[in-house]
Amino acid sequence: MKLLIMLLLSALLGVTLAAAYSRTEAESPLEAEARIFMDMFEAGFKEFNVGMSAEYWKFYTRGDPGRTDTYEKIQSEILSDPQTFARLTGWRGKITDPLLARRVELLYRTFAMAQVTSQEKIYTLQNSLQKVQINFRSTYQGRPATQNELTNILRYEKDRQSRKDAWLSRNQVGNEMAPELTRLIRLRNEAARKLGYASFYSMSLELGEIDEAWLFQSLAELERLSQAPYGKWQERVKRQIDVARLEPWDAQYDYDDVQGKVKAYFPKQQILPRLRSTYRSIGLDVDQMPIQVDDEERPGKSQHAFSFSIDVPTDIRILANADDGFASYRTMFHEMGHAVYSASIRQPSYLLQEAASPCFTEGIGQFFPMFLEEQPWLTGTAGIPADLAKDFMKRTKEDAAYGIRFHLVMLHFEREAYRNPDQNLTQLWWAMNEKYLGMPQHPEVDSWASIIHFTSHPAYYQNYLLADMIAAQLMHHLRRDQGPVLDNARTGEFLKTQVFSKGASVPWAQLLADTTSEPLNLKYYVEDKLGPPPLAETETRARQRPTSSR
Ligand SMILES: [Zn+2]
Repeated sequence: MKLLIMLLLSALLGVTLAAAYSRTEAESPLEAEARIFMDMFEAGFKEFNVGMSAEYWKFYTRGDPGRTDTYEKIQSEILSDPQTFARLTGWRGKITDPLLARRVELLYRTFAMAQVTSQEKIYTLQNSLQKVQINFRSTYQGRPATQNELTNILRYEKDRQSRKDAWLSRNQVGNEMAPELTRLIRLRNEAARKLGYASFYSMSLELGEIDEAWLFQSLAELERLSQAPYGKWQERVKRQIDVARLEPWDAQYDYDDVQGKVKAYFPKQQILPRLRSTYRSIGLDVDQMPIQVDDEERPGKSQHAFSFSIDVPTDIRILANADDGFASYRTMFHEMGHAVYSASIRQPSYLLQEAASPCFTEGIGQFFPMFLEEQPWLTGTAGIPADLAKDFMKRTKEDAAYGIRFHLVMLHFEREAYRNPDQNLTQLWWAMNEKYLGMPQHPEVDSWASIIHFTSHPAYYQNYLLADMIAAQLMHHLRRDQGPVLDNARTGEFLKTQVFSKGASVPWAQLLADTTSEPLNLKYYVEDKLGPPPLAETETRARQRPTSSR
């Protein structure tokens, strides 16, 4: 018996040794160098980023920038190091171990992006603009007002002049930001052009593994398909509020009081309890996950919502400003989507512990709020009477055309702004608003510059559109595969094991194609938002090719 064990052990040991031996044998000197470097770099980079994220958490929740500048300065020095960038460029495409190749690729992208964003003049300007945004408080009719208050006026206030005042008030910060933000766009562009890209916009898409030609082809398709529904939406709103032409302050207005009527069913105190039970019903127990939520409004705190992956997968935090109404629920369900994703990543090294890509993590963020627009959730969890739930769902569908057209404005504006930042960007903004939304121009209002994404997340907004497409495709796949998605623990199991756990080990387009058995397809999004297209059109949709890891 003992002998047998000895024999077994030595056989096992022999096999293990042989495997280790053949791996080092097969590993080229280049590959060995890359592995050793990556192991060292990622370990230090993780430590550094945990510290930096925690410092940013304090900044965004309390308005005190703390040592964020020091972190930015050190990060910028390390990531702009030309020797490391040259090293990574040299390793790219020469490594056979797929996981190591992926790690090198991810770090290469980080360094490539840092050649722009880590330039001191760029990040200091961006940070100072972010500080203006965080600390700015709008004045409405002579008194200070929070973003939540202004949003509520735009949504519920019957008096059109008051809505106009709220709209102007919300855009005040834009006039303060526009000149320096224009300069920031120019600086980002100059740096990207030095690296051989057509613009910073094109560079960002390429590094995010998004095919720009495909994206804008899809936008053209969306423009065509949304034209008639948007025309109907305009006619309906104009009739309802009895005006000849819609203005930006009419777009969010709850003209038929459907939002107002459902608002009572969405009290802010119930956001987290309902979120917990909804997530639990699909097998995701957020109480068992290392996720912290800060959802109180307070002075000095950022008025937006973010999920901070402080230390993946063990320390994730959500910043939000909870308010009554549907929108706050949607925001929290979205942020929690990011959080459960990060908390469920199971990967061996820091760079692989990131989400598959920005658009993919936004896609996971958009997946969970889809439940909120379904009849079973509205009547069951929120307790809305069936008729009102139906009206609400109808209204949500009708408003989708506006949402799509707004995306067209944002995406075309940003690409054009980076194509030619020397033009008057406020004029460009209003031209796009007129073209895609049919809105009158207000060239004295720099409303584009009040949109925080152009400052803090440049060339990022396309990720929200792609996100809705990804979420729709995942939802469709699950329905086809397992029937009910809500109240089904298999949903969470599928997401955790097939999607979340993979982290950034696989390019996002491939991950989506692998898990849903087809490449990203516009069809599901269009069906969800605008209803089924005429039969002849179902086969013409462009598809995003899965990008290879190279
Ligand atoms: Zn998000």
